[in-house]
Amino acid sequence: METTLVLLKPSCVQRQLIGQIVNRFERRGLLIVGMKMMQLDDAILREHYSHLVDRPFFPLLAQSMKASPIVAMAIRGVEAVQVVRGMTGFTNGRRADPGTIRGDYAMSNQQNIVHASDSPENAAIELARFFRPEEIFEYRHALTDFLYSQDEVI
Ligand code: UDP
Ligand code: MG
Repeated sequence: METTLVLLKPSCVQRQLIGQIVNRFERRGLLIVGMKMMQLDDAILREHYSHLVDRPFFPLLAQSMKASPIVAMAIRGVEAVQVVRGMTGFTNGRRADPGTIRGDYAMSNQQNIVHASDSPENAAIELARFFRPEEIFEYRHALTDFLYSQDEVI
């Protein structure tokens, strides 16, 4: 099983879409193993978006991510990183495929509803950035046997 980080951005929280987005992950069969509301600050945003701090849009990105609390989620499943990225869709909501979260809810390249880790390595780093170890729970989905075949779950 893999665990990935999802952030429900202020564009999700403010538009009161938290429930709809959480429902998509649950419906897919992914397990929520951590979830909390947080107010982000510049320090965590400069770290989280370190690959973008020198880009001209970074100040607006930071402002958009501080505009309200966010919801941080730790989401678990087989190949969860890739599955969740697929559900998230292309960065720019205008170009994201219908059926993806961004393709169904976003019209913006910046106000695009969710963040999702892009690799297992980054997922581990990002989960440690947003969650203390005790905030991520070890438990089994009661329907695991009906979500996966026995040889898919390790
Ligand atoms: N972003 C932006 N303008 C851009 C590219 C990205 O405002 O031209 C924002 C957008 O909110 C995006 C975030 O920066 O989700 C992180 O960018 P990244 O390229 O990592 O995209 P993602 O992994 O979120 O699809
Ligand atoms: Mg990214």
